[in-house]
Formats: sequence, C-alpha cells, structure tokens
Amino acid sequence: MMQHYIQTKDANPDCILFYRLGDFYEMFFEDAEIVSKELELTLTGKSCGLEERAPMCGVPYHAAETYLTRLVQRGYKVAVCEQIEDPKEAKGMVKRAVTRIVTPGTNMDAMSLDESKNNYIMGIFFDGDKYGLSIADVTTADFFVTEVDSNRSCLDEINKYVPSEIICNENFTISGIDIADLKERMQISIAKLDVHYFDDRLAVAVLLEHFHTSRLSALGLEEFPMGSISAGALMKYLTEIQKSSLEQFNHVQPYLNGNFMLLDSSTRRNLELVETLREKQKRGSLLWVLDKTKTAMGARMLRSDVEQPLTNADLITNRLDAVDELLHNMMAREELREYLNPIYDLERLNTRIVYQTANPRDLLAFKNSVAMLPAIKTVLADFKSKNLVELSENIDSLSDICADIDAAICEEPPISSRDGGILKDGYNEEVDRLRKAKTEGKKWLAELEVKERERTGIKNLKIKYNKVFGYYLEVTNSYKDLVPADYQRKQTLANAERFFTPELKELEDTILGAEDKLISLEYELFRQLRNRIASEVSRIQTTAKAIARLDVYASLAYVAEKNHYCRPKINTRGLIDIKGGRHPVVEQMMDQQLFIDNDTYLDNKKQRVSIITGPNMAGKSTYMRQSALIVLMAQIGCFVPAKSANIGIVDRIFTRVGASDDLASGQSTFMVEMNEVANILRNATKDSLLILDEIGRGTSTFDGLSIAWAVVEHISNVKLIGAKTLFATHYHELTELEGKLEGVHNYCIAVKENGDDIVFLRKIVPGGADKSYGIAVAKLAGLPDEVIDRANRIVTQLCENDIVDLAKNIAVEGQTTGGKKQTKPLDDVDKAQMSFLDTVSDDAIIDELRNLDISHMTPLEAMNALNELQVKV
Ligand code: ADP
Repeated sequence: MMQHYIQTKDANPDCILFYRLGDFYEMFFEDAEIVSKELELTLTGKSCGLEERAPMCGVPYHAAETYLTRLVQRGYKVAVCEQIEDPKEAKGMVKRAVTRIVTPGTNMDAMSLDESKNNYIMGIFFDGDKYGLSIADVTTADFFVTEVDSNRSCLDEINKYVPSEIICNENFTISGIDIADLKERMQISIAKLDVHYFDDRLAVAVLLEHFHTSRLSALGLEEFPMGSISAGALMKYLTEIQKSSLEQFNHVQPYLNGNFMLLDSSTRRNLELVETLREKQKRGSLLWVLDKTKTAMGARMLRSDVEQPLTNADLITNRLDAVDELLHNMMAREELREYLNPIYDLERLNTRIVYQTANPRDLLAFKNSVAMLPAIKTVLADFKSKNLVELSENIDSLSDICADIDAAICEEPPISSRDGGILKDGYNEEVDRLRKAKTEGKKWLAELEVKERERTGIKNLKIKYNKVFGYYLEVTNSYKDLVPADYQRKQTLANAERFFTPELKELEDTILGAEDKLISLEYELFRQLRNRIASEVSRIQTTAKAIARLDVYASLAYVAEKNHYCRPKINTRGLIDIKGGRHPVVEQMMDQQLFIDNDTYLDNKKQRVSIITGPNMAGKSTYMRQSALIVLMAQIGCFVPAKSANIGIVDRIFTRVGASDDLASGQSTFMVEMNEVANILRNATKDSLLILDEIGRGTSTFDGLSIAWAVVEHISNVKLIGAKTLFATHYHELTELEGKLEGVHNYCIAVKENGDDIVFLRKIVPGGADKSYGIAVAKLAGLPDEVIDRANRIVTQLCENDIVDLAKNIAVEGQTTGGKKQTKPLDDVDKAQMSFLDTVSDDAIIDELRNLDISHMTPLEAMNALNELQVKV
C-alpha cells in the first residue's frame, strides 16, 4: 500500500494526496504535517517499512468535502485517490487511482463558491514580449481569450478577472512585480507548467480538437496566436485535472482590449467599482448600488459589466435602449423581475448536469427555473429595443426539458441520487411494480396464505420468513396428508414441514429484490434523464446567458427609477457635459436630499483641464470620483445620477488618488505615487479621463508644486497628451496656470467663512480658492484652541502668499494661451525664492519646521513641536 501511495504521490507532486483507506482519506509524510496544521487535525504515525513511523492524519470519507474545500480555499491542490473496486471483490490489494484533482480555479463545490462571482482560472503564455491570456470558469463555461503587450495590461487583466488560479509558462514574469507577491497579496495560486503544455502546435491541436474544428479562424482566434496557445494549454490542464472532457465549454470568446474601457488596477480600486478600498466589501461600492439583480447569473454578469465598460457607441446605445424600455414599462419590468426571482443558477446547474454531479433536487430546481421561461418570453414579446428582442430570441423556453423533468422527478426528491424515492409514480412501469412489491408485499403474502389455506384445506397453514430460508409455507405434522403435490419441501422440523411453491418463490424474489432493484433502477433512469438534459448543453447555456442579460437590464432600469437617474446622451466628440451630477454611492450612504449636485464640463478644446482647489473635506475627491463614475456608468449602458449628461466616450480612466498600497509594496508612498503618475503620463491619450488628486503631496512643497506644475503642463499639451483632466490640488499656486495654458481652468469648491469657522457649501464654482482654510479645518477636527491660535499667528508670519507670488513668475512651457501674462526670467524667480526664505531669520528652525512630518503627528505632538519652535525663536 505504501509503495502505491508513494508512486501516486510522485505522479502528483504538487498536490496534497487524499488517499482512501476504508472509511478514511489518509495523508502521509509532509502532506500529513501540512494538513494537520492547516485543519487542526491530530497527527499520528504509521509504520511504513521505514525506520521511523510515517506522520499520518486522516479525515472520515463522509466529511471529506469540507476539509478538501478548506484546503483548496487556502490555495492548495488536492488529488483524491479512491478505491476503484469493491473491497469485497478485490483479490489482494484494492485497486486505487486518482479520480479527480481539485484546485482553487477548478473547484466545483457549490457550497464554497460565491454565487455572485465567477471563479476564474487564467492561463498565461508569455514569450518575453507579448502575453497570451485565456480565462475560464469551469462552473459557468465562460471562456475568454485575449492578448496584451505590456506588463501593465497583463496586470490589469489579472485585476479585472481576479482569478483564483493562474497557470503559466516558465518564462512568465511581470517586470517590476514579484510573482510570489502576486500569490501572497492577491491570493492567487500560481503554477508554472511544463513547457510541453505551451508547445504551439500541441496547444492549438488541443483547442481545435475540443471545438471540433480544423481552423483557428472558425473560433475567431486567427488574430490571437499567443492567446490560442494559452487557451490550448489551459484546456489541456483542465482536462487533466478534471479527468473529464469539459463538454460544457462549447464556445470561446476572443476579445480585444480596445473594445472595453481600460482600467488599471489602482483605478479599479480607487473608484471602488466592486468593493470598497478599505474594507474590501461590496457594500459601499458602485456594484452595491447597481446590483438589484434577481439571479446569481445576473449578478455575475453585472459584475463583469461593471469591470469592463464598453467603448463602442452603438453597443452602449443599444444597452441604454434596453434599459430605457424597461424603465418606462414599469409593470412589465416588475412582472419580469418576479419571474426572474425563482430562477436558480442555470449556468452552474448546467455544469453539474454535464459533470453528472447534479442530484435530484438540482433537477427539480432546474425544472422550477425553466418553468418561468415561457412567461418571460411572453412578456418580452411586446418589447421593441434591439437588445431585448435579441435576447428574447435567445431564450429557449426549454419546455421539452421542463416536461421531461416534470414527468420524472417527484415533488420532494432526496438529495442523493442513490437512495431511491426520486421518480414519480407512473413514470416507469417497472419502478411502479417494484415499489408496489415493497409496500404491498405483506398484503400479497397474506392473500396467498388465505388462498392456499382454502385450496388445501390446511387450516393452520402459515407463510413465515427466516433469514436463511427466506419465505416458506409451514404445515404442522397433523395436516401433512393434505399437502398438495406442487409443494416443494424446503426443510423438515420435528413437528412441521416447510415448503415453497413457484408462486411463493416469485413473490419472495419480488419482495426481497425490490428494494435493491428499485434503487438501482431509479438511479439508472435518473442518470438517463440527466444525460439527456446534458446533451442540450448549448441551448441551456444560450438561454442562461440571455436570462442573465435580462436580469442585468431589469436591475439597471429598476435602480435608474428608484434613484432618479437620467439617460446619458453618448457622443464621440470628446465632450463631457454633466448637469447636476451626484456621486452614486455617497448619495446612497447619506440622506439623498442632502447631497449637493454639481456640474462637470470637459471637452477636447477649451476645457481640457480643471484645476480644483478648496479646503480639505470640501468635497473635491467626491466631485472628481462622481464625474469618473458617471462616465463609467454611461459606458456600462447604465443611466446616471444627474439631471442631464452628455458623455463623450473615453478610452481609459486613470485615477491617482490618495495613498495607495499597490502591489509594488515596500516602496514609499511617494514612490508609489510617482510610479502611478509615470504610468498615466506614458499611457493616457487625448481620449482618456484623468482624475488626479493632490499630485506631489508626498514631498516638500517646492518639489511637489514643481512636479504638479510640470505634470499639468504635460497633460494639457495636445501635442503630448491633451487628456481631459480633473486635477485637485492644495497648491493654490497652480491656479496661476489658468490663462497661461490653453484649456486649463480653475474651479473651487465653495466654502462660506463665518468668523474663524467655515461652512462647506459643496458647490463647485469657477475660480481658484484663495485660501486653504487648513487651520479652520484643523479647528473643526478638534485641535486645541492654543494650537489653532498659534498656528494662525505663524501662518501670518510665514505669509503663504509669497509662494503664490513666486508661482506667478514661473514661465510655462509647451502650449500657452499666447503669453497674456507677464513672466519673469528664471533668475528672478530664484531670487524671489531666496527672499521668501529670508523672511524667517533662523535657517535651522526653518529646516526643523520643514522636516516636521505633520501628517503623521498627533495633535499633542504637533503642539509640543510648535512649543519647541516657539522657544527657539
Ligand atoms: P476633499 O477631497 O475635498 O477632502 P471629500 O470629497 O473627501 O473632500 O468630501 C468630504 C466629505 O464631504 C464626504 O465624505 C462627504 O460626506 C461630504 N460631501 C462631499 N461632497 C458632497 C456633496 N456634493 N454633497 C454632500 N456632501 C458631500
């Protein structure tokens, strides 16, 4: 046994081996140590022919799934080695073999998967230059293929799908990122596979064979050579792991990145599309607001829509038309949503049917779900918009399948398909007979007893039963003479004889065999039905997708109505004109009446860059994010929180917001910030939308201001980028750029002064803020009065306007408005800078002040520091 164990383990070195021994799955050696630690099981030992006992631990077979799932969730691969022959019939050692391997990306266990999320596995083939990507969900049969040509884009795709497992070739790297880090931080299990998986001919052959075609073009993959290799490798891996033919995958969806809005990982997180930045939960994300879907399939589809907004105006408009129609036909929509409500996860049910793991209750759930389809089709028949008509056509009412299940499966079937009690009476004659035999056996025996008594005249004739002889007719010796000739002797006792007749024998066979036969016959008929449904996999899949789409549209329409959204106009002129825009999430988190709406106007010409100033807490980031989210929502095909909106399609949204702990951890916040800015400057185009919040904050004022300044110059320059940009800054000096750089305008978020205090008005208005109100906000935050007073005095001394004066004198580079403003030569600027420094006499104190890390100080530390400075002055 141990030899076989070791052979099996050697064949699956990267897996934890669940080795079936009787009623347990046992693990040995290192596996046992890992598992006992991970699952808190007792570690025991077993003598194994070696000097030391082998460490061992085990789990009972009936509870194995739970343990297995827990290991898989922690990123382990588990190989299950079963006894593949009946131990009773085995000669010598029972034959065992690995029957399945479970990995994070191939887990089919419904209990451990989140139904509102896909569970993706990703294949990556990297040739040193390009990345071929394939993405599959074995539970829903989604299968995507694409190619990207940069590190960043590869990482963006990984972030888009968040796979639980990646398989890749040996060469796979993403420069600047440690793969182990990717594993740790994103909790992705990553396996580098042997080179033969990625052999181009072999991989493509696997793919073509699976889809029964001879050309990649038949799959739409002719433009994706790298993607095809990755897809073939993934298919091969899945086939090996699942030990099945992956019948559920009957199409592949190649896509070009250009068809979707590109969102890098930090933008996804910053805009809190599907989860919040800090708590990583759905509540508080855009998806949380939009998702009022009724089905798990709809929830997954909406999630992926939110993850990949469109860039094609027609596709967006078609979606908007569908949502619009559902919005305005409220009655029909709500009726549809009611019909959608009881529909189960057809996609995952379908996969279980194909994998022959669906149980009788699954089929019943399936039937109850498809039973809703005809009603849905009827309601949809009145709709006119292109997408709704199309999806209605794609919904097959599947009434044949529904009828088949209905005829077969009883009202309350058991979970197990091996315990009988599955089928309806009248479905199968033999089943009926066997059932009758089971329940009516006693009656038949009693009837036979009476009949035989009458026929023979033996008054005390009895039909009895024992384990050894089964059923028999017992005649006491006193009636011996009346025994008819057709009675056959079974046994002679001292005072009686026991007989049987052919009729009794048949009855006995029926009664005793009935239970076993019934169970296996029911199982067989159930399997036949399940296989018959499995053969309809593509009809079911198409229908499931259409239902998911309908659910998404209905949810968007419902949300649009409930939250008072408007239909955005879509343009390709680069104009973004939002009137009365609101932040979709923030307005939900507060009383909707209290949210103050704001306009956003950006275009490709005169209004490319808005410099937004205003004190902390005024609402700058809320405003910028809301503008980005409104654009993004429009491109999903969703109505938007605004009075009106005209949205020019953007190719990418970039955000640079606040401190970020991106994958590149271990770098200082400033370094991360600069990395992101570098990425933006390299990849943004004139069609991109940039949200930049306080660029340059992480360094000294002069450095920070200079960087921010240069960044605005670069972005606003149409020859370089010319992207539409919302740029929030603390550097009021940047407001100097208005009038100097074409397309740059100042906005500020209005506050009202009330003595020393301020009131936030939350309204964005043209012009720059003249003060930062930092001290007023600090006061609101509860800094002690003495500190506030002292800070006010210091600020007057520092005369912050000096920096503004300096800024006025910086000559802009690149595109200008034609030099309306006078600029001083640089020499003078340097002098001016000197004079600013001269305003305070003691250099040492200035250095000390400059080096204070105010953002990391407690109020008390700040007060002490101020005190120390005061003493020195
Ligand atoms: P800033 O970026 O200027 O520091 P935020 O955008 O973080 O400010 O806004 C601070 C808080 O103000 C938000 O958490 C929100 O509760 C509130 N807020 C922002 N904008 C609005 C608005 N338009 N209407 C109502 N409250 C708002």
